Amino acid sequence: MANRTRKTSRAFERDKRAFFAKCCREHAPCWLCGMPIDYAAEKNTADDSFNLDHLYPVSKRPDLQFDPAGFRPSHTSCNRLRGNRDPATPIGLLSRQWVDPALGGQSEG
Ligand SMILES: [Zn+2]
Repeated sequence: MANRTRKTSRAFERDKRAFFAKCCREHAPCWLCGMPIDYAAEKNTADDSFNLDHLYPVSKRPDLQFDPAGFRPSHTSCNRLRGNRDPATPIGLLSRQWVDPALGGQSEG
């Protein structure tokens, strides 16, 4: 958790590519709806094409945007529908970090 290094966008691109390649290899399903993703389709185009989603919405946790641990495979359409909301029903993979006290309570001011 001491990873406070700000990554360059180039590193982010590389991490994204590596993540996509991994998901593609494993035919990872969409983490939001559990349906297969069309890895042959151009990213971010068709509704069932691959789209990089984040465990925590970037708007809520911009500090985690470049953290590969938070990357999740999703459909372009599902990610669009999700918006900034937390997913209604996480598919099986309930993360140890799902409940983050930092997100819960304290609001400032
Ligand atoms: Zn989906």
